[in-house]
Parts: sequence; structure tokens; C-alpha cells
Amino acid sequence: MTGHVLKHLGESKLELGTENARKGNWRAGRDANGIFWLALDKADSSTNTISGDVLRELEHHVTAAENDPPHALVIRSAKPGGFAAGADISSFAKMSDEGAAELLTQGHAVLDRLEQLSCPTICVVHGAALGAGFELALACDIRIAVPGASFAFPEVQLGLHPGLGGTFRLPALIDPTEAMTMMLSGKTAHTKRAKTLGIIDEVAEERHIAAAVRALAETGVERAEPGLKTRALGLEQARTLLARQMRNRTEERAPADHYPAPHALIELWEEHGTDRATMQRGEIRSFANLLKTPSSKNLRRVFFLRQKLKEAARGDDDIAHVHVIGAGAMGAEISAMAAIRGKRVTLSDLDSAALGRAIKLAAKLCADKHLTGAETRDALDRLMPDPHEYGVARADLVIEAAPERMEVKERIYAGLKTEMKDSAILASNTSSLAIDALSAHAPNKAHFAGLHFFNPVSKIPLVEVVAGADTAAQTARRLAAFCGAIGKLPARVGDYPGFVVNRILTPYLMEAMVLMDEGVPKEVIDSAALRFGMPMGPVTLADQVGLDIGLHVAESLRDRLGTSMAEITDMLQERVEQGDLGRKTGSGFYDWADGTPHPETEEPGPADLTDRLILPMLNAAVEVMRENVTKDADQIDAAMIFATGWAPFRGGPLHYARTRGAREVALRLRTLAKAHGPRFDPDEGWKNFS
Ligand code: NAD
Repeated sequence: MTGHVLKHLGESKLELGTENARKGNWRAGRDANGIFWLALDKADSSTNTISGDVLRELEHHVTAAENDPPHALVIRSAKPGGFAAGADISSFAKMSDEGAAELLTQGHAVLDRLEQLSCPTICVVHGAALGAGFELALACDIRIAVPGASFAFPEVQLGLHPGLGGTFRLPALIDPTEAMTMMLSGKTAHTKRAKTLGIIDEVAEERHIAAAVRALAETGVERAEPGLKTRALGLEQARTLLARQMRNRTEERAPADHYPAPHALIELWEEHGTDRATMQRGEIRSFANLLKTPSSKNLRRVFFLRQKLKEAARGDDDIAHVHVIGAGAMGAEISAMAAIRGKRVTLSDLDSAALGRAIKLAAKLCADKHLTGAETRDALDRLMPDPHEYGVARADLVIEAAPERMEVKERIYAGLKTEMKDSAILASNTSSLAIDALSAHAPNKAHFAGLHFFNPVSKIPLVEVVAGADTAAQTARRLAAFCGAIGKLPARVGDYPGFVVNRILTPYLMEAMVLMDEGVPKEVIDSAALRFGMPMGPVTLADQVGLDIGLHVAESLRDRLGTSMAEITDMLQERVEQGDLGRKTGSGFYDWADGTPHPETEEPGPADLTDRLILPMLNAAVEVMRENVTKDADQIDAAMIFATGWAPFRGGPLHYARTRGAREVALRLRTLAKAHGPRFDPDEGWKNFS
């Protein structure tokens, strides 16, 4: 199980005696050169995490090294998958109840003692060293990376900052501005960049690790004296200046009201800078405070929601070959993503120019995703333009991404009847047609479902796997596994107008239209939504999605959304007829000629503006639950967050409803209904929602 490491440890004549050398979470032993090897091998897990017991056992080994100093001490991972994934996030909730500061202080003490050992300490990193794993590496004197190693502090994504010494050890090791950028952005430094930054001292192939360790144990490393900039940042005035810039930039991406963690980190650094002792105390205090914030609690919830969707995507999809019909906005990206992830893909379209564009786009996506030359070549080899649809007969999955017109899809399905393999699945990417209506024309109803990707497919992780009345459970399961295989997160939902995501999102877009009709400026509407924490205002979003598509979805939901729909669809229809489809034509409600509009204004608008935009989404989410489109409230929250970026720090629409109080929300909806019409009537489902 730990083949590469044990092989290497064997080379260095380590008397591990394999299994009996493992005690708890570490494998430990001294080799003939007097080097003390400590390999982290977290029990009952394929990934290392830095938990309380890992640190307590490390303390025991550090004590041994203090009492009988080895020639050098080496820390590495015994897991083939990588170094360490960070702290055990599931322990955070308990930790915030049990005096986090005390637990952190104990962890710090262990790493401080490791750092102070009289012998050289060397960390060998293969794969990812994240969060607390990275902090463990930073407490060593020297870091050696196996090519492919990477380093990151993803804590900001959990509403936290590093808490095990990262906030002072990284700025002390590398350019403090770069260190702060890494911690504020959560971005990964891959091997080459990590070497340039000075995070690692040497890069060595696995087979040379033992020799590299022996050599570095003798010579140590010489680090350049801190540069002028680093020295200047030891001065408070210089830090204050830089901190102000960081704060402004951070505020744009992550406003302090919603995301306190990066701001707390900037404050910490500005206040204490190079004073390690106060910085250390400050880090512990600040981390313990952040753990208790609703923002961090909700962002950790989002982490677990992602895990849950990933689990639903496990298993074998039994899909080697995918045929995609329609190489337009959706089909082109779907086929590229599948090919990049190792599927054999054929792609057909009536228009050969669309096929040419699709291949070009695939090459661009490979570059965007940092694929190497060889990986790009392989991905493009797997993606075959197939105007005559030869691939259909060989495909295990056919994805139809043709225009959103029933008769077009019907004709396509008729042509597939005699061609597709019996076992193959046909899936439609429709966003507004009923799966049960389409299934009537499918070659095999049991092997037919919706597979609703979102635009742009390469960026949006969520896919709705839509089971119709006749869809076999096995079909839905295989499609969910297919999503997992191509790096997407599947939400399994039932057939319902708008499915889950569009059903919930559409009232948000529609209410914005009503508000515009009432004379509220679009900038005021969009700004209110941004202030709530939505990633994009509804008017900008409508333009981005395309007003033609919005119109289709709105029409499919006409019966559900009540009386004001007629005017709204007319308003959309008018623009569509003028050819103003939004971003794709350069103009919609906004002018897109100069790129994405930034409609920010402080003007507050009507007092109930934000509730008018947000609460209808909560109401629709409750309706979707009541209608059993999905029974799982978490899945609804996850779908909205991973498809639309729905204010993650609020934990999803239903979680927000729970936080605000279901009764309170239902009452508020009733007040809105009195003022603005029955489209706000609280759904029946509120009675049973808790
Ligand atoms: P598109 O118009 O960009 O592309 C459709 C492509 O299908 C065109 O290239 C067209 O030439 C081709 N085509 C037409 N008839 C065909 C046929 N008989 N056989 C093969 N190819 C044919 O459309 P799109 O935006 O990619 O949408 C495709 C599907 O995805 C629709 O069902 C749509 O509702 C759905 N969808 C779209 C979005 C979006 O934002 N664009 C989002 C989710 C789902």
C-alpha cells in the first residue's frame, strides 16, 4: 500500500520491519546513517490529515529526537496520494466548543519543538501539502519536493486562515507579499513556482530522495539574506501601506461583512508583522474567533455539501465512449470536458463550422486547465468530429445538446432508434423541456434521462441528473457516476419545470424584470443582490444566460409563476425580437461591448428590494422539496451553490431560511404578497419545513 515509500525506506536500510514499525499514525525508524525517518500514515484513511492524535504522536517522536539526537530527522508521507490534505475539517465543529485556543496552543508547541531540534529537520513532499500539512512542512529546516508536489493554504475557502504557524512561518521564509497573496487567495504553488518562491530548497525524483536527504543533512542550505522589500516590511508604516492595498483588493472579492477571514489575516499581519511571538498568539486567537463565525460555519458546511455530492458520484459509469449531438455553446464544452477527463468522444453537428470551432475551443480549454503538451495531444486525440454520426453505434452514452425545440429533438431521437446499442444511455441537456415529454420519443425510456449541464460547462461544477417517470435507477446512477468521472458534481433530481436550479433561480430573474418595469434602475437591483452576497445581480445574470434562453425557461414556468408572467415574457420577447440577446450579442439590458458590466451603486432602492429578490427563491426551494423533486434539503442548497454561486457564506437558500427562521420567512412572504401580488404567496411546504 505504501509501495514507493517503503521501497525508498528500504533503500536507506531503515529497520522498519514493515507493519510492526507502525504505531498509530506514523511509521518511524532510524537508518544506518543515523537518520530518523518519520512517515505519516494516517490510520484508516487513504489521505493524511493533521489531527490532534497525529500531533500528539509527533510530539512523542520529537521527544525521542530531543533525548537522543539523530543525524537528521526526515518527515514525509507514506501515502502514495500525497503529503497531507490539511487539518481534519470535521473536527473543527467540536474544537470550537472545546476551547480551540488551547488545542491550537498545544499543536503550536509541538511544531515549535520540532523547529528547535538541534539536528537538521528535512521535509520531503510528494503530491499536495495543504493547510496544516503545509504548516508541518514549514516547521522543518529544509524542504525537498518530488516533481508534481504542490503547496497551498486553502483555509480562506473555509472562512479561516492558517492556524498552525503558517501566518508567521511563510512570511518569514519567502517574500511576505507573496506569502500573504498565497494565504489570502488560497492559490496553489506547483513545484516550479514553489521553488522560485523559495518554499522548497530542492527538487528530486523519488529515486534520488535518500541521496538528497543524506547530502542536505551534511551541508544544510544557504538562504539569501532577506531582500530590501522584506526588510522594509518589518517596518510598521510600510506594512500599513501595503495592508491598505490588500484590504481594498480583498474587499472587492470578499467583503469583510461576508468573509471576515482574509480581513482578519491582513489585520494580524499589519499589527504584528515580523514579531513572531505576538503574531503566534494573535494567529491562535484569531483562528479560534473565526471558527465561531457563521461565515466559517457555513463555508465548512459547503465543503461537506461538496463531499456529499462527490460521494453520490462514486462507482463505475461503464461509459467509455460518449457521442455528443450538437456542437454549440453547450455540446462543444461538454465534449471537451469529457475528452480531457479520458473519455473517447465523437461530436456531430449539422454545421461543420461548429465542429471546427469546437475543436479549437477544446484546445483552449486544455490550455486554461494547464494541461501539458502530451496531455493536450491525448485529449484532442480522444475528441473526434463526426459529422456522419458513426460514433452513435459505438457510444455507451449519447448526449443530445441540440437546439431547444421539441420537433428538432424528436427528429434526432427518431434517427437514433436503430443505431444506438441496447445498453447505451441517451441523455438530453434540455433546460426547459419536460423529460417525460422527450422520453416518449426516446429509443428506450428506461435508458433515457436529462443531463443538465450549466453554461459555461468548463467552469460550473454542477450537473442535474434528471430522472423521468420511466428512467431506470441504474441509468440515473450511471449518469451520476459519469459526472464524477468527468470532474462534475451531480445533483439527482426529478422531472419538474425548471428542474431544481432554474425553478429556484427564475423567480429571482423575473422579480428583477418586474422591478425594472416599476422603474427601479437595473444597477440598484443588481447592487442589492450583490450586497446580499449573490455572485451576480439578476439583470446581469439574465444578460449572461441569454434573454432567449431566459424566455424559454420563463415560458416553461409560466403556470407556476403567476399573473405577472405575461408582461415579463413580453418584455423579454421584445428584446429577443430586436436581437438583443444579452452578452452573446453585445447588448441586452446592459451594453456588453466593453466586457462584463459592474453595476455598483450605494443607492438603496425600495426597502423590501432584497427580500423581493431573495425570498421567492426560498419559497421555490420549499416548493421543490414539497413536490419531491428532491427530498434532500442539502442537495438543494448544494445545487444552488455549485450551479449559481448562491451566497456560499450563507450556506444555501434553505439553510438561510432556517437561519432566518421558517416562520419569519413565511410571514414576510405573506406581507410581500399583500403588497405586490400572489406570486409571493408562501408555499404550503413552509408548514412542514424546519
Ligand atoms: P446552440 O444553438 O449553441 O447549439 C446547438 C447546435 O446544434 C448548433 O451548433 C446546431 O448547428 C446544432 N444542431 C441543430 N440541429 C441539429 C441536428 N439535427 N443534429 C446535430 N446538430 C444539430 O445551443 P446550446 O446553447 O448549446 O443549447 C443546446 C441545448 O442545451 C439546448 O437544449 C439548451 O436548452 C440546453 N442548455 C443550454 C444552456 C445555455 O446556456 N446555452 C444551458 C443549459 C442547457
